Amino acid sequence: MGSLKDLGEFGFIARALEMAGRPPREVIRAIGDDCAVLDLGGPEQVLVTTDAVVEGRHFRLDWMSPFEVGQRATAGALSDIAAMGGRPLACLATFAIPPATDTTVALELLRGVAQTGARYAAPLIGGDTVSGQEALMLDLVVVGRARTPWLRSGARPGDVLLLTGCLGGAAAALEILMKQPAALRWPQCAGLLQRMVDPTPRLAEAAVLAQTPDVHAAIDISDGLLQDAGHMARASGVRLEIRLPQIPAAPLPSLPADTSPNLPAWYAATSGEEYELLLAVTPEAAGELSAMLERAGLAPTTIIGSVLPGEGVTLLEEDGRTVTVEQGGWDHFRSTHR
Ligand code: ADP
Ligand code: MG
Repeated sequence: MGSLKDLGEFGFIARALEMAGRPPREVIRAIGDDCAVLDLGGPEQVLVTTDAVVEGRHFRLDWMSPFEVGQRATAGALSDIAAMGGRPLACLATFAIPPATDTTVALELLRGVAQTGARYAAPLIGGDTVSGQEALMLDLVVVGRARTPWLRSGARPGDVLLLTGCLGGAAAALEILMKQPAALRWPQCAGLLQRMVDPTPRLAEAAVLAQTPDVHAAIDISDGLLQDAGHMARASGVRLEIRLPQIPAAPLPSLPADTSPNLPAWYAATSGEEYELLLAVTPEAAGELSAMLERAGLAPTTIIGSVLPGEGVTLLEEDGRTVTVEQGGWDHFRSTHR
């Protein structure tokens, strides 16, 4: 039957969808969006999401403190609530910890989760604790709510694509860590370090934008802009055209040549774990939506493209030429960018 590398992460998820069968009537959205959506009859719909991180794959304790690992994992899970235009309600955390782990490490992980949950109004209300083998694993379930959740499937031809913040910081931080782990703590890397260890789930931005009817679809950038845009295009049955020069790239620090990240020109388009939001919005409203966020002192937004009839994602260069990017984003089982 081959290995999981052949099936791929998304092939596996497609099989989960087949095997899951038809969900009950109360389930508005099951597998395939940033959160599952349940309508339990109240004025708001219920959002549920789960996100796991594994030592050696998502984090290394020689790169980040255990507190930062817990903080980052919790922020990453909360980002999926933001991607639905929702507000978090609570979180549950499962820890698989090798028994020989230093108690301080385990307690700091826990503190990172509890404190970040509390900071974003998602207090820790449960979880599970088990002994792990060699690697630490942490899974966060977050429950939230939204009056009208933003789905990946709502993008319409004519919409424009709005992106919060900038991209590429996570890819740059990772490159620096691989070359010279200590360098990420140098002062000129403060911005990148902050994004890496304390990413901001765009919940405040979602709360402001969700007051308008103008966000038709949304997704958070966890696998890389190109790949996540592909998810939105597929779910919505549209083509997304992204203008490469418009993608705001995270500023790169000035570092010695042997430490400086050596990134391809399109790194911002494929950098994962960015936790920014890609939104398909009413074209006439885009300016006002950006202004609303600016007035509230929240993340800047940039129009990076548009929604067209068709399928897939097209990347355009300044002169209108189409760029072919072979590697689109992260696939867990292929352990590679696709
Ligand atoms: P995200 O990056 O937003 O967390 P993923 O790419 O991890 O989303 O997952 C895509 C969709 O597939 C989500 O709706 C998620 O709930 C679903 N999914 C992923 N893994 C599984 C699984 N093992 N069983 C059922 N659904 C899954
Ligand atoms: Mg997501």
